[in-house]
Amino acid sequence: MTQTIVPDISFRAVSKRYGEVRAVDRVDLDLPKGSFVSLLGPSGCGKTTCLRMMAGFEQPSEGEVFIRGDNVTGVPAYKRPVNMVFQHYALFPHLNVADNVSYGLRQRSPKPPREAVAKAVDEALAMVRLQGYGQRRTWELSGGQQQRVALARALINRPAVLLLDEPLAALDRKLRHDMQIELQNLQRNVGITFLLVTHDQEEALSMSDRVCIMKDGRLVQTGTPRELYDEPVNGYVADFVGKSNFFAGIAGNARSGLIDVALADGMKATGRASRSTVSPEAGEAVLVSVRPEQIRLAAAETDLPNQVAFRTQAKVLNRIFLGEQTEYLVAHEKLGEFMVRSPRQGNQALAFEIGDRVAVGWPPDAA
Ligand code: ADP
Ligand code: MG
Repeated sequence: MTQTIVPDISFRAVSKRYGEVRAVDRVDLDLPKGSFVSLLGPSGCGKTTCLRMMAGFEQPSEGEVFIRGDNVTGVPAYKRPVNMVFQHYALFPHLNVADNVSYGLRQRSPKPPREAVAKAVDEALAMVRLQGYGQRRTWELSGGQQQRVALARALINRPAVLLLDEPLAALDRKLRHDMQIELQNLQRNVGITFLLVTHDQEEALSMSDRVCIMKDGRLVQTGTPRELYDEPVNGYVADFVGKSNFFAGIAGNARSGLIDVALADGMKATGRASRSTVSPEAGEAVLVSVRPEQIRLAAAETDLPNQVAFRTQAKVLNRIFLGEQTEYLVAHEKLGEFMVRSPRQGNQALAFEIGDRVAVGWPPDAA
């Protein structure tokens, strides 16, 4: 017998209006059980409002919210098996770590027995690797440790879903990276569904099983990081999910999945239609998107790798050394300016100088 797995949280055509502002606009969303999902989008696109409707701090203007199959539209926050961690995690300064962590449990009525609370605190602190920190004052802790206390506080009553609203935004770069790994491990260990809100695409792509991209209150695309990167539904997603170059062209014939495209000045390239787009008809105007790391540079066209189908000449305008990669800005007479990222090859990382003429190209299916 097949069994349908009920998502932990579902939105069905959920909208939220504040006066004239449509903060969230007819969003359909499923959070698969046990998954790590990111909600990615620029500031003001409606991410926090979505989370607040999941948690029950806000109710939708239209549409329905389901938690594990139950319609919870209108159900208040304290009756939902969902917890939220905020960007400003707001620990209580007058309470020690243990009392901060157990706060939610101690608010319950009837109050759980003291020993049960102490055991739950120890378990929650162990989850975030802060065993033995119970008696510390919160101000004695580093920013990262405080964030972990906030996580332990949210996990102590084993919610079905943990909602994380830009929890890492206040941390510096190095700590942020450590906490990203920590969060992933934590999610794997506890097996609770995590929904992480972020405006940082790298964070979303590197951490999540699925990423939901929002724009102006609407869900633009949901998919695995790979699907979003390789098959963006439009230029907004392609641009948001890492850098991309765009060239205008006219579609030609399609053969074995690849479409010929006439670029400016008689240049021909090939590319795949993005999966969610209808394949363009011959003669239709199209946008060709090529990722910077898919473009190859060489001193001469004959030095480009064999699989490179599209070849032309350009001039290096700028370059930025990024350690393992070098990012070049190159200019082409007809195509305009575009970005290229070349991996380091021995000492060849800075192979080209500003002003150099270079051969550029990309493989047939890179576009
Ligand atoms: P994000 O978290 O993606 O930055 P928000 O969900 O906070 O976006 O906000 C989405 C939109 O809704 C914004 O235009 C914001 O100004 C508006 N908004 C959010 N909360 C309220 C509120 N309580 N009252 C009025 N407008 C709000
Ligand atoms: Mg927000």
